[in-house]
Amino acid sequence: MLSYWEKDSYYADADMVIIGAGLMGLWSAYELKKAAPSRSITILEKSPTPLGASTRNAGFACFGSLTELISDAQSMGTDAMLSIVENRYKGILKIRKTFSDEQIQYDACGGFEAIQHTQSTADHLADHIHQLNTLLAPITGMTNTFEDRSTSMAHYGVKGFDHLVYNPLEAGIHSGKLVHALTQLVLSIGVKILNGIEVKGWIKTADQITIQTNQEATLHAKQLIVCTNGFTNALLPQLNIVPARGQILLTHPIDNLRLKGTFHFDEGFYYWRHIGNRILIGGARNLDFQGEQTTSLLGSDAIRQHLLAFLSKHIITETPITIEQSWSGIMGFTQDKQPMCEMVEPNVLAVIACNGMGVALTPLIAEKVAALMLANN
Ligand SMILES: Cc1cc2nc3c(=O)[nH]c(=O)nc-3n(C[C@H](O)[C@H](O)[C@H](O)COP(=O)(O)OP(=O)(O)OC[C@H]3O[C@@H](n4cnc5c(N)ncnc54)[C@H](O)[C@@H]3O)c2cc1C
Repeated sequence: MLSYWEKDSYYADADMVIIGAGLMGLWSAYELKKAAPSRSITILEKSPTPLGASTRNAGFACFGSLTELISDAQSMGTDAMLSIVENRYKGILKIRKTFSDEQIQYDACGGFEAIQHTQSTADHLADHIHQLNTLLAPITGMTNTFEDRSTSMAHYGVKGFDHLVYNPLEAGIHSGKLVHALTQLVLSIGVKILNGIEVKGWIKTADQITIQTNQEATLHAKQLIVCTNGFTNALLPQLNIVPARGQILLTHPIDNLRLKGTFHFDEGFYYWRHIGNRILIGGARNLDFQGEQTTSLLGSDAIRQHLLAFLSKHIITETPITIEQSWSGIMGFTQDKQPMCEMVEPNVLAVIACNGMGVALTPLIAEKVAALMLANN
């Protein structure tokens, strides 16, 4: 049995309960508390520390690569593509306004996209770069957001590609330090976070929502925000969020590592970056879409071996590359691959699926969350 003290403090009724303490849940709590300081907010997180994508990703600030933006413009239209880029750009600025670069190890290293001649963008590459630079100039204030650096490939420590396109706005971030700093920030403004509480469901009546958990505790709230990303199917199967595992390798330190920056290849299915004198590489989910459609964090040896072979083929080093550590994280995808922020029923909001770009997008989507929730109550 819970004590009176526990019930009256940790598990007290809240104005708003947020499920999930990843970047989406944390930024949402931050914006809500800023806009309405008197509202009580409790975040329920099933794991001792957030465990999905936010603390397991690759730590790219993620502006957007050339081929990705071209492909987005084709699939969703130029205006929608530009709107997402603008949000990411503003999201990164907001992160840097909220935290010092030292706090989150923001590394303005710039980023590259490697392109092979077989990819359609390789034809007329200069025209593509020119067109996108013209479209992006009002957002970035730069005439050359993208630049062709193909002739300097060896200088940047990679080999075996036909083209290399540079973007100075790409950057690296320390994902653990970002989530930790944001957690401390929301705690400091009065948000409560309960770890080790898995939400199993909720019952809605006219005046409150009763939240059922894996513990003895049930909590009551007036409003609920579901930020469970790749794990959403367990609570809201009707949203058809597809879980997608991303696997990551981290190398041992490499003497005289030339590689510096964040790198993308093959529509973002491969991504790698330097972390000090190590390399982090992730991706290759496209080798087995079906198998990687899972919430299991176990990972697959075939993909790990493939990523190691990719590094050996494409990174210039003086000695063989060896792996120190590997892990997996879980993304959530909507059917149209656009982030979802919608009321699933009155006073229950689902904010899901920032796909592979949540670092930059979550701070801005959170502003929409606050506006929607506060307009409703
Ligand atoms: C391998 C990988 C690499 C990536 N690389 C990048 C990158 O470089 N740049 C970038 O911008 N984005 C990247 N992403 C995507 C980015 O990390 C996500 O878009 C972002 O972190 C999503 O945040 P979130 O809060 O929505 O989800 P999550 O971080 O997954 O948070 C969801 C939280 O909900 C909790 N939860 C789930 N179910 C319940 C429940 N029933 N009860 C209580 N708690 C629950 C989970 O434990 C988890 O902590 C990557 C993702 C992965 C997996």
